[in-house]
Amino acid sequence: MNRTLYGNLIFELSHPGRRGYSLPKNNFGHHEVPAEERRQADAALPECDEMTVVRHYTNHSGNNFGVDNGFYPLGSCTMKYNPYINEEMANLPDFAALHPQQPEDTVQGALAVEYNLRQSLAELTGMSDFTLNPFAGAHGELTGLMIIRSYHQARHDDKRIKVIVPDSAHGTNPASAAVCGLEVVEVKSTPDGLVDVEDLKPLLGDDIAAMMMTNPNTLGLFEKDIPEIAKLVHGCGALLYYDGANLNPLLGVCRPGDMGFDVMHVNLHKTFSTPHGGGGPGAGPVGVRKGLEEFLPSPHVVKEGDRYSVCYDHACHVGAYLGNFGVILRAYTYILSLGKENIKMVGPLATLTANYVKECLKDAYELPIGGLCKHEFVFNGLRDKSTGVTTMDVAKRLLDYGYHAPTIYFPLLFHEAMMIEPTENESKDTLDGFIDVMHRIAKEAAEQPELVKTAPHNAPISRVDDVLAAKHPIVTYKQLINDND
Ligand SMILES: *Cc1c(COP(=O)(O)O)cnc(C)c1O
Repeated sequence: MNRTLYGNLIFELSHPGRRGYSLPKNNFGHHEVPAEERRQADAALPECDEMTVVRHYTNHSGNNFGVDNGFYPLGSCTMKYNPYINEEMANLPDFAALHPQQPEDTVQGALAVEYNLRQSLAELTGMSDFTLNPFAGAHGELTGLMIIRSYHQARHDDKRIKVIVPDSAHGTNPASAAVCGLEVVEVKSTPDGLVDVEDLKPLLGDDIAAMMMTNPNTLGLFEKDIPEIAKLVHGCGALLYYDGANLNPLLGVCRPGDMGFDVMHVNLHKTFSTPHGGGGPGAGPVGVRKGLEEFLPSPHVVKEGDRYSVCYDHACHVGAYLGNFGVILRAYTYILSLGKENIKMVGPLATLTANYVKECLKDAYELPIGGLCKHEFVFNGLRDKSTGVTTMDVAKRLLDYGYHAPTIYFPLLFHEAMMIEPTENESKDTLDGFIDVMHRIAKEAAEQPELVKTAPHNAPISRVDDVLAAKHPIVTYKQLINDND
């Protein structure tokens, strides 16, 4: 791409007076905007011709990386393929042009989608009912914890102010608990990467509101002690919360509801194939077991006979209207297009691809916890530590070969964590291509470590200063100019 011609910022291409579009002549008489409603000065917009604008944005869009461009093994994020039929459904004008305040009679189809998706999720997870209102996994966690808090308050059990979170948990777990006004207590993992039941026991008491768990956990390992953990947690009067971000490998195999979980969220944008990346969009429906339905937030869709209506009978609200409808519609399309039989293949296939990649690469990368994983696994950097090549270097070098990097430096249990999740959609050819490149990088690290340490060499930009970008983000052109003064 020619940067001098098409520029990094549209503002850099601006020429005073240049126009990309002009309004047609007004043939309908004189209609001036009243003086007091007019702006005092022109808006500070870039002035460009149409072709320049089109090329600028089209060329920039080519710098994006997505599942449609290449392999995207970003662990924990389940970057699975987003089938195009989902987009076709979401683009149907009858859905896309709906207004949330339309009369119920005119939106029966949309309400049916909401109602049916709730039933499907309940069946797939073993929960009694769901709310589709939360807008992300983290928002689902907060909603779920609010449900748990309401449950305890309704029983006048006011001492329960603590939430137990494993040390391997995703950062959103303790964050959600803190936002909900609950205190976080950490439970340790065993050397095998599972929740340490002996460490858990003394933490349980009448001040515990809930324990949050991810199963399989963030190391991709199935928490096989879950029946005992559920018994212990319930024994002290607390509820068990399921972080459903890792539901993918369980689909068709087992259900959180049957494992003893009371409240859970699902990341529709992960397990149910709606596009996500760069922070959104998403949806984090929350499910509850039988007996907790009354604590779900409003509004929700109810069905009487053939008619659907929106019901506001519960006190709590977590968002406007009925959630992120476009995402809900895509997830429902995905479930229907796979169907009851094929959806059972998702989990086993995701597990197979992850184990295949893990076994093929463990000769070159350090596998701290061996054995069968589920949909993802974690390496602790290269096996050969003498080269000085870090996980960050390997991740950057992967970009040169056209692959998205795996998740790095998470979970925090290992210093050089590299978390790989291939998903069920990838062909053996794609997996073999990735394995080949990972081996090649390991060889480069041994023979030409500088090449890997200074990567990427083929990307539009080289290494960015992550810390500076996070601590001092420059998000407007004006700010950029001022900062350069
Ligand atoms: C992605 C993820 C979350 C948070 O979900 P968001 O939709 O990103 O808010 C929570 N827990 C785990 C294990 C995750 O992978």
